[in-house]
Amino acid sequence: MDLSDISLQDCPICGGAAAMFEEGGWAFTIQCCDCGAQTAIATYSKPEDRRKAAESAAYTWNLGKVTSPSPGE
Ligand SMILES: [Zn+2]
Repeated sequence: MDLSDISLQDCPICGGAAAMFEEGGWAFTIQCCDCGAQTAIATYSKPEDRRKAAESAAYTWNLGKVTSPSPGE
């Protein structure tokens, strides 16, 4: 299934490029290529929910709901 049409905004923390990662066939997360900020994992249990999970992760990212890996925050 092609997920390339799901648009990701730049990182809400540093403005870097975002990338979508699939976790072993059960979840998606969006992560910043520069600072490592990432969304919570969006899981799916059925193949037909895969795209929904990817869109959910992208939606979370685009809202700026990310966690920063920076220590002390
Ligand atoms: Zn970033």
